[in-house]
Amino acid sequence: MFEKLKLDFGLLGSLFLMMPQLTNSKLAINTLRISEAKYCSLFENIDQSVIYLDTNGIVMSVNQAAEQLLSLPRDKIIGRKFVDSCFNVIKEDGSVFPEDEQPSMQALRMGKPVENVVMGLFNAERQSYTWVTVHSVPEFRTGEHQPHQVLMTLSDITRQKQSEGKLNMASVIFNNIGEGIFITDKDKKIISINQGFTTITGFTQEDVYGKSAHFLYAKKNKQTIYDELNNGTKTVNNWQGEVWRRHKMNLDFPSWTTVSKIQNSSDNVAHYVHVFIDITHFKKTQDHLGFLAYHDPLTKLPNRLLLKDRIDHSLQNARREDLQAAVLFLDLDRFKNINDSYGHAVGDGLLKEAAKRIKNLVRKEDTVSRYAGDEFVVFMENIPDAKNPAKLAQKLINTFNAPVYIKGYRLKISISVGISLFPQNGKDTDTLIKNADTAMYRAKKEGRNNFQYYSLELTTEASKKMSTESALRQSLERHELVLYYQPQVCLKTGKLVGVESLVRWMHPTQGMMPPKQFIPLAEESGFIVALGEWVLQNTCIQMRRWLDEGLNVNKIAVNVSAVQFLRSDFVATVERILHSTGLTPSYLQLELTGDSFMDNSEQTIKALSRLASAGIDLTIDDFGVGCFSFNNLKRIPVKKLKINSSFIVDVLNNTDNEDITRAVIALGHGLHLQVIAMGIESKAQQNFLMDLGCDQGQGYLYSSPVLPWSSIFQQLI
Ligand code: C2E
Ligand code: MG
Repeated sequence: MFEKLKLDFGLLGSLFLMMPQLTNSKLAINTLRISEAKYCSLFENIDQSVIYLDTNGIVMSVNQAAEQLLSLPRDKIIGRKFVDSCFNVIKEDGSVFPEDEQPSMQALRMGKPVENVVMGLFNAERQSYTWVTVHSVPEFRTGEHQPHQVLMTLSDITRQKQSEGKLNMASVIFNNIGEGIFITDKDKKIISINQGFTTITGFTQEDVYGKSAHFLYAKKNKQTIYDELNNGTKTVNNWQGEVWRRHKMNLDFPSWTTVSKIQNSSDNVAHYVHVFIDITHFKKTQDHLGFLAYHDPLTKLPNRLLLKDRIDHSLQNARREDLQAAVLFLDLDRFKNINDSYGHAVGDGLLKEAAKRIKNLVRKEDTVSRYAGDEFVVFMENIPDAKNPAKLAQKLINTFNAPVYIKGYRLKISISVGISLFPQNGKDTDTLIKNADTAMYRAKKEGRNNFQYYSLELTTEASKKMSTESALRQSLERHELVLYYQPQVCLKTGKLVGVESLVRWMHPTQGMMPPKQFIPLAEESGFIVALGEWVLQNTCIQMRRWLDEGLNVNKIAVNVSAVQFLRSDFVATVERILHSTGLTPSYLQLELTGDSFMDNSEQTIKALSRLASAGIDLTIDDFGVGCFSFNNLKRIPVKKLKINSSFIVDVLNNTDNEDITRAVIALGHGLHLQVIAMGIESKAQQNFLMDLGCDQGQGYLYSSPVLPWSSIFQQLI
């Protein structure tokens, strides 16, 4: 267009040159008018904005396109300096374009065209920019060397400028934004990342370029996230969610991610843009807030809300599975006095210490809660029996009897504990807590520093059990345990083949206590380990003594509880005792009950084999009672089966017991084991068992358990 204009002005120029020769010619004048009209029409209707300036920069003429471009009527432009026609002319960088540097002035000054200059015309009235590219062409009269005017053509590039601006802005945002951004192609291969991405993940463009977006997902994301991501990005343009991301050097971190789908003009996916922020800090705050909602800020224990929630939940399970549970309500005795006398800081310290002591004593599955002020609640789920909570209550009471040191003060405190049981004392959380609280008040009334069950009978029973247990613990050092011995005879010859040692407890107030009354308690409390070791040690010493005295006792049998046997140091203990007492292992017989082999583990088989290969005989005690897997019989190196006295007691008039006895003898013999019957009280029983082929017997018929110096042993030899 610009070239075209130049041509037309050339034509106009030649017309002016020819004018003197045509002055007298009408034809010439007409031709000139026609040409001028043509030129004017061309000038006016051309799309290009055209402005003529004189040498002072004053606008001489403008065309319609220029009026439109500048949004000004020509009477407001013509006759003024271009720069005065209410524009501010600026450069691309936004600075003011000085008049003499503007392309029109330069073209006039240099006498040659100045092309492709970008100018911004700021219309102050409208507060808007029009961006143009300007060509300025100086025009000369014939023979003159100084231009007499300049022709400016302006092209509107505002749109182009705007989109360039947007692109620039997007690029600035992309590179400076704190969020991590990565862009993938349609196949989810990473093609671009921003600086924020590197700052957050530690990965650079080289680390990730061409890799799948999956490379950036941490392993701990659940599969559902990938499904969601895939399905989400398939169906919607924007997917948002929490995604765990990898870090190049550090730990995985949680991110809040937005994935946007970018489609091309044919609606096919071209790219995916992933924008994410690291929400580690946010999550920590969120977790902390969540923690505070359900915990006591001082002791960090679950608060009332969480406690109730846990009990509710656990009771649902207990109802289904028919389990027992307990609520223990603890109150610090005279806490108010401490708070008032020593101040709140000491009071707080005491509560924290109390929380610590309680937590140290409960099982993993129990919940300890600070219920209110100086009240704590312990919830025990799935308790094996109603007396269990009493044990914990007593332990708690004992632990509080040790003084507490806070801020230099030595504080003596105690607690009172109330216990309610599910389902006996309440079928729902609130009732259980209320009844435990009631029981706690009774404990306070009873003089504090004690526990009470909601039910009075249970309190008595549990207290009795606790005091027996604590007395039993002292029985060893008080030398209250005594060993009795009962002969075992060969049924055919009636001769002594062995002796079983049976422990008794000379209780300080209740007199001689049979093992059935304290062995289960010792097993439950773990005291059986020390007790069993004492029995084994003293039995071996006694056997050694008999042998030294020349008494012909072949075997000495010792009862071993499963709790004792299943300890990893059991075999070593036996070996140590045999060594220290100087008893040859072949004299020793261990009577184990079926529950010792229940686990059927390699460790158990190994322990049994080690005992057997040392020459120690193994007997299965109470055979036929309790659980026993017949499979085990083939695997374990056992020598003898002992039929429980409950089968022998009426073996003569109870056909079931007769059948069982007969079967056990047959089974034992089938496996080349000896069989001994326990509890033979009459000759008839003895004869009957002999007829069945039973090898040995033990019972009151021969002797009840006696003290070691009894003459019965000599008589049976
Ligand atoms: P056990 O090993 O089956 O012992 C046999 C029990 O039967 C003994 O009871 C014994 O006194 C009793 N008894 C003996 N002859 C007759 C009889 O003719 N008729 C009847 N009805 N009973 C008879 P004891 O001494 O009360 O022992 C009971 C259980 O206590 C023992 O049963 C054993 O399981 C356990 N026990 C005894 N001493 C110890 C020990 O030192 N350690 C371990 N772990 N348990 C022991
Ligand atoms: Mg026994």
